[in-house]
Amino acid sequence: APRKLAAGNWKMNGDLAALEQVDALCAAHPGPRCEVLICPPALLVHPMVSRIGAGPVAVGGQDCHAEMSGAHTGDISAAQLKDAGATHVIVGHSERRADHGETDADVAAKAAAAHQAGLVAIVCVGETEAQRDAGQTLDVIAAQLAGSVPPGSDAANTVIAYEPVWAIGTGRTPSNDQIAEVHALLRERLGGAVRDGADMRLLYGGSVKPDNAATIFAIANVDGALVGGASLKADDFGAIIAAL
Ligand code: 13P
Repeated sequence: APRKLAAGNWKMNGDLAALEQVDALCAAHPGPRCEVLICPPALLVHPMVSRIGAGPVAVGGQDCHAEMSGAHTGDISAAQLKDAGATHVIVGHSERRADHGETDADVAAKAAAAHQAGLVAIVCVGETEAQRDAGQTLDVIAAQLAGSVPPGSDAANTVIAYEPVWAIGTGRTPSNDQIAEVHALLRERLGGAVRDGADMRLLYGGSVKPDNAATIFAIANVDGALVGGASLKADDFGAIIAAL
């Protein structure tokens, strides 16, 4: 089975003073059987990398542009994240799809840029509540996966995160069976589509907390979590890491 991964997405939260949290997370890291990643706002990537030094926690970005440089005011490239010490980048988070109109094709181009820069792309997919209520979840996820994962993706350079939009920041989560159903679909589709699909990490994200983490991590084909709110407090994120 793939090595488990706990990834924290700080979203647009945190400041230089918040960096001290990573000391506790480095101390709490359970060792080589799993990986811990924090994706802070881009401004904090380099200072966080510096603070961690040779410590065991990896640092990633939350988005990147599809091109490596150029006239794109306000954007950040995968090469710049790599230069700052990042090893991963989240692409296609539902908040970017919603706030910035990112399409599957945009997400695939960003993931390809991440690969080109030597970053692991964490590609996010997930249905809205209306889509789930309409019975469209598996079709939506299959289409997002097919459209958002670029050629050249493999288990080493890509992680998939299943984040139901309605579970993000709401305290609501799908049932274990619902998570298992989507992750089985992801595993099956990846198996035919990419190299090493059977070993690609599949994260669940959406209201993962210390009290539900162990149950979620025990679901088949769940290889870790993408954690928002609970990654902002070292105690909570530490407890989730301990459940890996
Ligand atoms: P929450 O853990 O706050 O629900 O956020 C999940 C998420 O969007 C992580 O990318």
